[in-house]
Amino acid sequence: MTAKLKPRSDVRTRMGLRPIINVSGTMTHLGASIVVPDAVRTVAEILPEFVEINDLHRKASRAIAKLTGAEAGFVTASASAGITLSVAGCMTGPDLALIEQLPDAAGMKDEVVIQMGHMTQYGAPIEQAIRLAGAKVVPVGTVTDARPYQLAHKLGERTAAAVYVVSHHTVQYGMIPLAEFASICHEKGVPVVADLASEYDLKGFLAAGTDLAVYSAHKFLGAPTAGIVAGPKVLVRSVFLQNAGIGRGMKVGKEGIAGTIAALEAWAVRDHAGVRKIEAGYLQLWVKRFQGLPGIEARIIPDPTNNPLDRLMLKIDPEMARITAWELADALASGDPPVIVRDHEVEHGFFQMDPCNLHQGEAEIVADRVVAELKRAATRNRAEPASIVERKKRRFQRLLAWPD
Ligand SMILES: *Cc1c(COP(=O)(O)O)cnc(C)c1O
Repeated sequence: MTAKLKPRSDVRTRMGLRPIINVSGTMTHLGASIVVPDAVRTVAEILPEFVEINDLHRKASRAIAKLTGAEAGFVTASASAGITLSVAGCMTGPDLALIEQLPDAAGMKDEVVIQMGHMTQYGAPIEQAIRLAGAKVVPVGTVTDARPYQLAHKLGERTAAAVYVVSHHTVQYGMIPLAEFASICHEKGVPVVADLASEYDLKGFLAAGTDLAVYSAHKFLGAPTAGIVAGPKVLVRSVFLQNAGIGRGMKVGKEGIAGTIAALEAWAVRDHAGVRKIEAGYLQLWVKRFQGLPGIEARIIPDPTNNPLDRLMLKIDPEMARITAWELADALASGDPPVIVRDHEVEHGFFQMDPCNLHQGEAEIVADRVVAELKRAATRNRAEPASIVERKKRRFQRLLAWPD
């Protein structure tokens, strides 16, 4: 039986957009997350009203403090903006003249250390988010290995901050653990800015020595697009004051701030175990439907940075399944309804399916689509498999051709 999806809303089709189903994850390029109902309501309510924006920021600071255990918090346009403004705050302190001087960092501490294995990209390179503040990036260690003495050696008179990244994007071994990293930095009086954009734990990283914790509001929290910076009042104030400087071009509006407050409050009372149970049900459903299909291995795997979520890994033997993992991903993305899978490692012959961003009934549709595409592949005449290199090239060409 093919499950039929009752359209929830026609806004996408009305705008000529494809009604995609997201089993990729919380991705900016797919519209991030399903904004939680409380945040949707709050955004709609505040949009037609005037507010004193810094008072709204004060309320947000309290809401962030409550959930993170930090003294203060600040809502930014995004986690990426949060990284830039946190670095800027570490460079300028609360000096408005220096804040206006950026990105010219003359006379300021302007070096930011980061382990080379943490130099990720999340749509743009993180080192650019650091440079945007006028800072110079000072890499520590090699791609797969960084050592305490190497970090200590790079911390000097000019060091303004150290950036630490917790993410599946980073190299997952050979890096200095956060607590040790922070203690080495603190010995030299250097604050640690942690990119925790996709991490669920709102307290542990601060407890482990992070000075400025940076989160995405629009990922697991289900807020509208925004970022969150949490930390000691003195530091967060210096980050907030960037609104009068380079932060102006990264400003967040009343809807982003109010929506983030609402999402934080909803997070505090969410039935997390219940949500997890629903997601586990989707994974079980997929395993049941895919197991035993020729050339398919379906396995539930934990999140690489210990977030409380699992994903499905679908490994495809192209000889037996008569289709490569990337051809299957593309077929799913171009079919009806389009299903977008998590394919950043697809050249290894697998992709993942993330159960966190599904509306009711969509998991069944996804299962039907996967089974149908595999059946189609099994019965057709097999041509040469599509090249992964060509696939990447096509994607860049499409990007560069925008808006066509
Ligand atoms: C998503 C992500 C970012 C970017 O977050 P935005 O809020 O979209 O700017 C930065 N770092 C990591 C590790 C991420 O996962």
